[in-house]
Amino acid sequence: MNFPTDYDSILKRIQEIEPVAYCKSRNFLDGKVTYLSPYISRGVISTKKVFDHVMTLGFKPYQIEKMLQELAWRDYWQQSWMQKKVGIDHDIRNPQNGVTSHEISTVLVEAKTDITAIDQGIEELYESGYMHNHLRMYTAGIACNLGKNHWKLPAQWMYYHLLDADWASNVLSWQWVAGTNSNKQYIANQENINKYCKTSDKGTFLDIPYEVLGELEQPQILKPTQKLELKTPLPQKKELEVNENLPTAVYTFYNLDPNWRKEMEMNRVLILEPSFFEKYPSSQKVIDFVLDLTKNIPNCQVFVGEFDEFVSSYSTPQIYFKEHPTNTHFRGIEDSRDWIAPEVQGDFRSFFGFWKKVKKSLKL
Ligand SMILES: Cc1cc2nc3c(=O)[nH]c(=O)nc-3n(C[C@H](O)[C@H](O)[C@H](O)COP(=O)(O)OP(=O)(O)OC[C@H]3O[C@@H](n4cnc5c(N)ncnc54)[C@H](O)[C@@H]3O)c2cc1C
Repeated sequence: MNFPTDYDSILKRIQEIEPVAYCKSRNFLDGKVTYLSPYISRGVISTKKVFDHVMTLGFKPYQIEKMLQELAWRDYWQQSWMQKKVGIDHDIRNPQNGVTSHEISTVLVEAKTDITAIDQGIEELYESGYMHNHLRMYTAGIACNLGKNHWKLPAQWMYYHLLDADWASNVLSWQWVAGTNSNKQYIANQENINKYCKTSDKGTFLDIPYEVLGELEQPQILKPTQKLELKTPLPQKKELEVNENLPTAVYTFYNLDPNWRKEMEMNRVLILEPSFFEKYPSSQKVIDFVLDLTKNIPNCQVFVGEFDEFVSSYSTPQIYFKEHPTNTHFRGIEDSRDWIAPEVQGDFRSFFGFWKKVKKSLKL
């Protein structure tokens, strides 16, 4: 899969959505998924933009409900992040059962689990920066529930390589799989993987019935674990040309929206804060993707440094930025993000509680 970065290609990808086919096939590796998450996560387009487009296609909401729900899952996780803040970095509801390591099973990092779909999926993740949702679930299930890895480091590893890296969707999904954000741990067996990935593996450590899977000892192949040193290769710091008479729009890893305050004459600066990437490291591929997406924003310059450093180095009458849980130290005028249902805010215990409110609010 490839991910073009010019805005026209991104808009074209929205036009290509086939919601009915999506609902029928999204769990299959070759299903009609949208491949839009890298653009949504980077804030180039919003879930609302995609949702509104899908709603114009002439289907009744119940005919395409699965697609509408999936888009809403992203907003749900984002709302949880806004409410729980750094709380999502830890086991949020229950401690993870049976943890034997805070490292990651080496066969996952090396794509050598001997499960064809998983190994190919990890290679593909390294190559393209994308992994299908079902493969993410399978991989997380193997790491946490059979490998007995605590979810945090494997989650960081996956996040590091994903073009769609989104801390909320990522760690809250990992926690859902690990049972720290749900009532039970998720694990799929080989039969399930073969069905959705169209493989025919036999005799792997997952090739057992579900009744036995829950009782399975940690497979030998998953026992060796390793630490990871995840470092972000940030670009070289450069002097900027800031017009002191104009306000400045600050873009971030999570906001690369080329239409944001487009009509205003402004300095436009992408701030890449080392402290942010220390906490949420990303690979070279992801940083290159971000820099390429920045080209959709006219005259956008890149500042490598902290927000406060920017403020003390450059004079500008006003700073604008978009609200985000990672921006709480920014000062200036904060614009809200686009939500599918803006009035549905807060921390909902279940997605379906949230979805019910979204449906009511949008009169679906
Ligand atoms: C362990 C694990 C880690 C994940 N990490 C991330 C991550 O770092 N970043 C990320 O964007 N998504 C993450 N997801 C959610 C999901 O896998 C991706 O959003 C989806 O696969 C993206 O591909 P797509 O755009 O083709 O999705 P589609 O299936 O085409 O869905 C359309 C859009 O709906 C939203 N969506 C779909 N499924 C989910 C979901 N389960 N949770 C939240 N939003 C969803 C996304 O915005 C997506 O772009 C993770 C899921 C799991 C199980």
